[in-house]
Amino acid sequence: FPVENIRNFSIIAHIDHGKSTLADRLLEITGTISSKTDNKQVLDKLQVERERGITVKAQTASILYNYNDKTYLLNLIDTPGHVDFSYEVSRSLSACQGVILLVDANQGVQAQTVANFYLAFEAGLTIIPVMNKIDLKVADPARVAVQMENLFDTKEGEIIKVSAKLGTGADEVLKKVVDSLPAPVGSRDNPLKALLFDSWYDRYRGAILNIAMVDGSVSVGDKITSAHTNKSYDVKEVGIMHPEQTPTSTLYAGQVGYVIAGMHNIKEAQIGDTLYSAKHAVTPLSGFKPAKPMVFAGMYPIDKSDYVSLRSAVDKLTLNDSSVSVSIDSSPALGQGWRLGFLGLLHMDVFNQRLEQEYNAEVIVTSPSVPYKAKLLNTKANRHDYGQVDVITITNPTLFPDRQKVSEYYEPIVHGTIITPDDYLGKVISLCLSKRGEQMEFNYIDDKRVLLKYKLPLNEIVVDFYDMLKSATSGYASFDYEDAGFEPANLVKMDILLNGKVVDELATIVHREKSHDIGKAVCERLQETIPRQLYQIAIQAAIGSRIVARENIKAMRKNVLAKCYGGDITRKMKLLKKQAEGKKKMRKIGSIEVPKEAFIAVLKR
Ligand code: GDP
Ligand code: MG
Repeated sequence: FPVENIRNFSIIAHIDHGKSTLADRLLEITGTISSKTDNKQVLDKLQVERERGITVKAQTASILYNYNDKTYLLNLIDTPGHVDFSYEVSRSLSACQGVILLVDANQGVQAQTVANFYLAFEAGLTIIPVMNKIDLKVADPARVAVQMENLFDTKEGEIIKVSAKLGTGADEVLKKVVDSLPAPVGSRDNPLKALLFDSWYDRYRGAILNIAMVDGSVSVGDKITSAHTNKSYDVKEVGIMHPEQTPTSTLYAGQVGYVIAGMHNIKEAQIGDTLYSAKHAVTPLSGFKPAKPMVFAGMYPIDKSDYVSLRSAVDKLTLNDSSVSVSIDSSPALGQGWRLGFLGLLHMDVFNQRLEQEYNAEVIVTSPSVPYKAKLLNTKANRHDYGQVDVITITNPTLFPDRQKVSEYYEPIVHGTIITPDDYLGKVISLCLSKRGEQMEFNYIDDKRVLLKYKLPLNEIVVDFYDMLKSATSGYASFDYEDAGFEPANLVKMDILLNGKVVDELATIVHREKSHDIGKAVCERLQETIPRQLYQIAIQAAIGSRIVARENIKAMRKNVLAKCYGGDITRKMKLLKKQAEGKKKMRKIGSIEVPKEAFIAVLKR
């Protein structure tokens, strides 16, 4: 394919605005997939994506499109919409010259629409505005056009109106892609230069690298070198995603495709790396900013003997998801494990679900914490414990330094964007206040909807802010945020004691003013989550030596089972089996059986 006949683009939008569905139609009308079957989000290939109906992993599909008597090669990247996965979006954009910015004609512009628009805009990409779901009776295209004009400066006439569901307008979208997007600029006569923008792990073939060919070509049998590690590899297979892996003999400048080159160690496939010909070194591309984890949690095998198999599962899954940060950790009660950093709680949930579904691994996740910082006093004891560093980052509450060692604590801050109908303004504003928010911006984007910007502490929003916002606004408000550094905060560590013993894994860092309320809520949640056992269990929350809350779990009456189901042996067996299954998911802490849900429950309020 001559490079001038290639177009590389992403579809970006708020979650559920129809990216994956539009991708289905584009694949169908170009014959890339058969339209006889009932295609539903075919690019959402993971089980977790199909079950949750969301895209978590960007996927590439190469399409051949005949237009104006020429055949074009279009490389489409379907991206996730949720804020936790925006790192996937920004990576994908580096392989593109343009984007389709999709907006739901009923919901209108939402918080992630704005965030994604700016990602594309700042990357200097051509933006094709598209309004989707015009088949809906409740669609309000005129209002949505006003919003798009106010926020993105698009003129009504530029917006392509489509129904991804019915296929209306899909062909017009492809024409627009060819007509308005620039072709990639590289040349196949230059030496090889390719951007590794994504990778995934195949258990039989090792790392599969998703690459954007900037210059030159790469064929089976070539030797390629990684700019990151300086290691060289023999190319075993190259190909395009059509939409499944389809081997070809060569990939040329401008194309997006995959390479298999026998990388088996996960560290070797570094996202953002530049690959070049072993014969011809080139200046590496600038790569990506590393992903910045926003929540950290400990992860441990349910059964200590599963450590080794879990380690290999974690290694492989982190290769599929390079935005997870990993370090070794251990805990007195849970043994050897990891401290993992995630981009948000949904990201963490999805990671766990993938471990369970794709690798059959069962894990305990300890209560997630945002990263905090502490500026240490310049004392002999501190120099002894921490060396010359004066500001430390705390990703594990157990390692929180005492007040007397510290001159200032800091917490992470975000800038949140909320879009809401103005009927709910009062509720939204008081929710933000209760989360220690500070208003930064207030703008009407049409005659009824408001865009608000708030400065908020990350720890206040990471768990349930989104749910609370949704329920305060009957589901109408949307939310997105971006990292805005650290600010001083009055923090304390809250310990949880079970029968008088501190359980490290249940400790959390909280704002001092909120410690009583949180302590009470945590004790109540634990009381609900930990099942009754043979003896009474006291649950306490403490700040230092001061107990701030307490709940009890009464002892179980032993003959409950016998009483209820005395005669019926099958029901009894069933119950016992269920109980045994439940047990597997428990972990003994001291003499108390703690279900894995308890560790997460600490955070939810
Ligand atoms: P994504 O999160 O942006 O990838 O959105 P999906 O493609 O998964 O679609 C979200 C939901 O919207 C699904 O239930 C789709 O069936 C539905 N949907 C997508 N496009 C249209 C459309 O044009 N009309 C209607 N009525 N529904 C649509
Ligand atoms: Mg999707």
